[in-house]
Amino acid sequence: MALASTIGERVAMLRARVDRVAEAAGRPAGAVTILGVTKTQPREAVLAAIEAGLSDIGENYLQEAREKYVGLPPVTRHFIGHVQTNKAKGIVGLFDIVQSIDRLEAGLAIEKAARSLGRAVRVLVQVNVSPAERFGVAPADAAHLAQQLRNEGLMVDGVMAIGPLEGDVDSAFAQAREAFEAVGGTTLSLGMSADWERAIAHGSTMIRIGTAIFGARPAPERVTA
Ligand SMILES: *Cc1c(COP(=O)(O)O)cnc(C)c1O
Repeated sequence: MALASTIGERVAMLRARVDRVAEAAGRPAGAVTILGVTKTQPREAVLAAIEAGLSDIGENYLQEAREKYVGLPPVTRHFIGHVQTNKAKGIVGLFDIVQSIDRLEAGLAIEKAARSLGRAVRVLVQVNVSPAERFGVAPADAAHLAQQLRNEGLMVDGVMAIGPLEGDVDSAFAQAREAFEAVGGTTLSLGMSADWERAIAHGSTMIRIGTAIFGARPAPERVTA
Protein backbone atom coordinates (compact mmCIF):
# COMPACT_ATOMS: atom_id res chain seq x y z
CA MET A 1 0.00 0.00 0.00
CA ALA A 2 1.50 3.34 -1.07
CA LEU A 3 0.50 5.24 2.05
CA ALA A 4 1.99 2.62 4.33
CA SER A 5 5.30 2.39 2.46
CA THR A 6 5.68 6.18 2.32
CA ILE A 7 5.04 6.49 6.04
CA GLY A 8 7.30 3.52 6.75
CA GLU A 9 10.16 5.12 4.81
CA ARG A 10 9.70 8.46 6.53
CA VAL A 11 9.73 6.84 9.97
CA ALA A 12 12.89 4.87 9.16
CA MET A 13 14.69 7.92 7.74
CA LEU A 14 13.63 10.10 10.63
CA ARG A 15 14.76 7.50 13.17
CA ALA A 16 18.21 7.38 11.55
CA ARG A 17 18.49 11.18 11.42
CA VAL A 18 17.33 11.58 15.02
CA ASP A 19 19.96 9.10 16.19
CA ARG A 20 22.69 10.96 14.26
CA VAL A 21 21.65 14.31 15.72
CA ALA A 22 21.48 12.81 19.22
CA GLU A 23 24.96 11.32 18.83
CA ALA A 24 26.30 14.65 17.55
CA ALA A 25 24.92 16.17 20.76
CA GLY A 26 26.82 13.57 22.79
CA ARG A 27 23.84 11.38 23.53
CA PRO A 28 23.31 7.73 22.66
CA ALA A 29 21.25 6.57 19.69
CA GLY A 30 17.76 5.84 20.97
CA ALA A 31 17.96 8.56 23.62
CA VAL A 32 15.23 10.53 21.88
CA THR A 33 11.73 9.08 21.49
CA ILE A 34 9.75 9.95 18.38
CA LEU A 35 6.11 10.66 19.18
CA GLY A 36 3.95 10.46 16.07
CA VAL A 37 1.34 13.21 16.10
CA THR A 38 -1.68 11.76 14.33
CA LYS A 39 -4.10 14.69 14.29
CA THR A 40 -6.23 14.85 11.13
CA GLN A 41 -4.59 11.62 9.87
CA PRO A 42 -6.66 8.55 9.06
CA ARG A 43 -6.43 5.37 11.08
CA GLU A 44 -4.53 3.55 8.29
CA ALA A 45 -1.79 6.15 8.58
CA VAL A 46 -1.58 5.60 12.33
CA LEU A 47 -1.37 1.84 11.85
CA ALA A 48 1.34 2.25 9.21
CA ALA A 49 3.46 4.37 11.55
CA ILE A 50 3.11 1.82 14.34
CA GLU A 51 4.02 -0.97 11.95
CA ALA A 52 7.11 1.04 10.99
CA GLY A 53 8.21 0.96 14.60
CA LEU A 54 6.71 3.99 16.34
CA SER A 55 6.00 3.16 19.97
CA ASP A 56 4.40 6.49 20.91
CA ILE A 57 1.52 8.36 19.30
CA GLY A 58 -0.32 11.54 20.24
CA GLU A 59 -3.52 13.45 19.57
CA ASN A 60 -4.81 16.94 20.36
CA TYR A 61 -8.52 16.19 20.42
CA LEU A 62 -10.26 13.49 22.44
CA GLN A 63 -13.05 13.06 19.90
CA GLU A 64 -10.62 12.44 17.07
CA ALA A 65 -8.64 9.90 19.09
CA ARG A 66 -11.82 8.07 20.04
CA GLU A 67 -12.44 7.28 16.41
CA LYS A 68 -8.86 6.26 15.67
CA TYR A 69 -7.29 4.73 18.75
CA VAL A 70 -9.70 1.91 19.46
CA GLY A 71 -8.12 -1.51 18.99
CA LEU A 72 -4.64 -0.28 18.04
CA PRO A 73 -1.60 -2.45 18.72
CA PRO A 74 -0.09 -1.71 22.15
CA VAL A 75 1.64 1.70 21.97
CA THR A 76 1.94 4.54 24.45
CA ARG A 77 -0.75 7.15 23.82
CA HIS A 78 -0.14 10.79 24.64
CA PHE A 79 -2.73 13.53 24.96
CA ILE A 80 -1.12 16.75 23.72
CA GLY A 81 -4.13 19.08 23.40
CA HIS A 82 -5.67 21.55 25.80
CA VAL A 83 -7.24 19.77 28.77
CA GLN A 84 -10.89 20.68 29.27
CA THR A 85 -11.85 19.49 32.73
CA ASN A 86 -15.22 18.11 31.57
CA LYS A 87 -13.31 15.78 29.21
CA ALA A 88 -10.96 14.44 31.87
CA LYS A 89 -12.61 11.03 32.17
CA GLY A 90 -12.54 10.48 28.44
CA ILE A 91 -8.91 11.54 28.26
CA VAL A 92 -7.84 9.24 31.08
CA GLY A 93 -9.78 6.36 29.57
CA LEU A 94 -7.95 6.63 26.26
CA PHE A 95 -4.47 8.00 26.97
CA ASP A 96 -1.48 6.85 29.03
CA ILE A 97 0.23 10.23 29.36
CA VAL A 98 -1.27 13.72 29.50
CA GLN A 99 1.45 16.12 28.32
CA SER A 100 -0.54 19.31 28.59
CA ILE A 101 -1.21 20.02 32.27
CA ASP A 102 -0.85 23.78 32.59
CA ARG A 103 -2.92 24.52 35.68
CA LEU A 104 -3.82 22.84 38.95
CA GLU A 105 -7.50 22.56 38.02
CA ALA A 106 -6.65 20.42 34.97
CA GLY A 107 -4.40 18.19 37.07
CA LEU A 108 -7.08 17.75 39.72
CA ALA A 109 -9.64 16.72 37.11
CA ILE A 110 -7.21 14.20 35.59
CA GLU A 111 -6.31 12.79 39.01
CA LYS A 112 -9.95 12.41 39.99
CA ALA A 113 -10.77 10.68 36.69
CA ALA A 114 -7.77 8.35 37.05
CA ARG A 115 -8.85 7.41 40.56
CA SER A 116 -12.42 6.71 39.53
CA LEU A 117 -11.32 4.60 36.56
CA GLY A 118 -8.57 2.86 38.52
CA ARG A 119 -6.00 3.89 35.93
CA ALA A 120 -2.45 5.12 36.42
CA VAL A 121 -1.73 8.21 34.35
CA ARG A 122 1.51 10.08 33.93
CA VAL A 123 1.48 13.80 33.27
CA LEU A 124 3.85 16.46 32.01
CA VAL A 125 3.68 20.15 32.89
CA GLN A 126 3.14 22.27 29.80
CA VAL A 127 5.38 25.30 29.87
CA ASN A 128 4.76 28.39 27.75
CA VAL A 129 7.92 29.61 26.00
CA SER A 130 6.33 31.29 23.00
CA PRO A 131 4.37 34.53 22.75
CA ALA A 132 2.15 32.90 20.10
CA GLU A 133 1.02 30.13 22.47
CA ARG A 134 -2.16 30.51 24.51
CA PHE A 135 -1.54 27.68 26.93
CA GLY A 136 1.19 26.63 29.31
CA VAL A 137 2.40 27.78 32.70
CA ALA A 138 5.17 30.39 32.89
CA PRO A 139 8.56 28.63 33.07
CA ALA A 140 9.25 30.15 36.47
CA ASP A 141 6.02 28.64 37.86
CA ALA A 142 6.54 25.11 36.49
CA ALA A 143 8.26 23.65 39.55
CA HIS A 144 5.58 25.01 41.89
CA LEU A 145 2.78 23.53 39.75
CA ALA A 146 4.64 20.20 39.59
CA GLN A 147 4.87 20.17 43.39
CA GLN A 148 1.17 20.91 43.76
CA LEU A 149 0.32 18.12 41.30
CA ARG A 150 2.57 15.64 43.11
CA ASN A 151 0.97 16.59 46.41
CA GLU A 152 -2.33 15.53 44.86
CA GLY A 153 -0.86 12.15 43.98
CA LEU A 154 -0.14 12.71 40.28
CA MET A 155 2.93 11.18 38.69
CA VAL A 156 4.66 14.18 37.10
CA ASP A 157 7.33 12.99 34.69
CA GLY A 158 8.67 16.16 33.11
CA VAL A 159 7.83 19.07 30.86
CA MET A 160 6.28 19.70 27.45
CA ALA A 161 6.67 22.92 25.47
CA ILE A 162 5.81 24.21 22.01
CA GLY A 163 8.55 26.28 20.44
CA PRO A 164 7.96 29.62 18.77
CA LEU A 165 7.44 29.60 15.00
CA GLU A 166 9.77 32.53 14.66
CA GLY A 167 12.04 34.60 16.85
CA ASP A 168 14.56 33.28 19.32
CA VAL A 169 13.99 29.53 19.27
CA ASP A 170 17.19 28.82 21.18
CA SER A 171 16.30 30.97 24.15
CA ALA A 172 12.77 29.49 24.20
CA PHE A 173 14.20 25.96 24.19
CA ALA A 174 16.69 26.90 26.89
CA GLN A 175 13.79 28.08 29.06
CA ALA A 176 11.97 24.79 28.51
CA ARG A 177 15.12 22.87 29.46
CA GLU A 178 15.56 24.93 32.61
CA ALA A 179 11.94 24.32 33.61
CA PHE A 180 12.46 20.58 33.00
CA GLU A 181 15.48 20.58 35.31
CA ALA A 182 13.42 22.33 38.00
CA VAL A 183 10.46 19.96 37.61
CA GLY A 184 12.44 16.70 37.36
CA GLY A 185 11.31 13.47 35.74
CA THR A 186 12.44 11.65 32.62
CA THR A 187 10.73 13.46 29.74
CA LEU A 188 11.42 16.77 28.04
CA SER A 189 8.87 16.80 25.21
CA LEU A 190 10.24 19.46 22.90
CA GLY A 191 10.59 19.84 19.14
CA MET A 192 8.25 19.39 16.15
CA SER A 193 8.80 18.76 12.42
CA ALA A 194 10.39 22.17 11.84
CA ASP A 195 12.59 22.49 14.91
CA TRP A 196 13.38 19.04 16.32
CA GLU A 197 17.11 19.15 15.58
CA ARG A 198 17.59 22.22 17.73
CA ALA A 199 15.31 20.76 20.39
CA ILE A 200 17.58 17.71 20.65
CA ALA A 201 20.58 20.01 20.98
CA HIS A 202 18.75 21.54 23.95
CA GLY A 203 18.21 18.19 25.64
CA SER A 204 14.83 17.09 24.30
CA THR A 205 14.08 13.44 25.12
CA MET A 206 10.91 13.30 23.02
CA ILE A 207 10.11 15.02 19.74
CA ARG A 208 6.51 15.34 18.56
CA ILE A 209 6.36 14.83 14.81
CA GLY A 210 3.33 15.17 12.57
CA THR A 211 3.98 16.43 9.03
CA ALA A 212 7.50 15.00 8.71
CA ILE A 213 5.99 11.52 9.11
CA PHE A 214 2.48 11.80 7.75
CA GLY A 215 2.82 14.60 5.23
CA ALA A 216 0.83 17.81 5.15
CA ARG A 217 -2.36 17.69 7.14
CA PRO A 218 -5.40 17.24 4.90
CA ALA A 219 -7.74 19.57 6.74
CA PRO A 220 -6.93 23.04 7.99
CA GLU A 221 -6.00 22.88 11.63
CA ARG A 222 -8.73 23.71 14.05
CA VAL A 223 -7.96 26.31 16.65
CA THR A 224 -7.70 24.70 20.06
CA ALA A 225 -10.87 25.40 21.98
C1 LIG B 1 0.49 19.39 15.64
C2 LIG B 1 1.38 19.30 16.81
C3 LIG B 1 2.67 18.75 16.71
C4 LIG B 1 3.27 18.26 15.41
O1 LIG B 1 3.48 19.31 14.53
P1 LIG B 1 4.26 19.09 13.12
O2 LIG B 1 4.78 20.44 12.83
O3 LIG B 1 3.26 18.61 12.15
O4 LIG B 1 5.34 18.11 13.38
C5 LIG B 1 3.43 18.66 17.86
N1 LIG B 1 2.97 19.08 19.06
C6 LIG B 1 1.75 19.62 19.19
C7 LIG B 1 1.30 20.07 20.54
C8 LIG B 1 0.92 19.74 18.09
O5 LIG B 1 -0.29 20.29 18.24
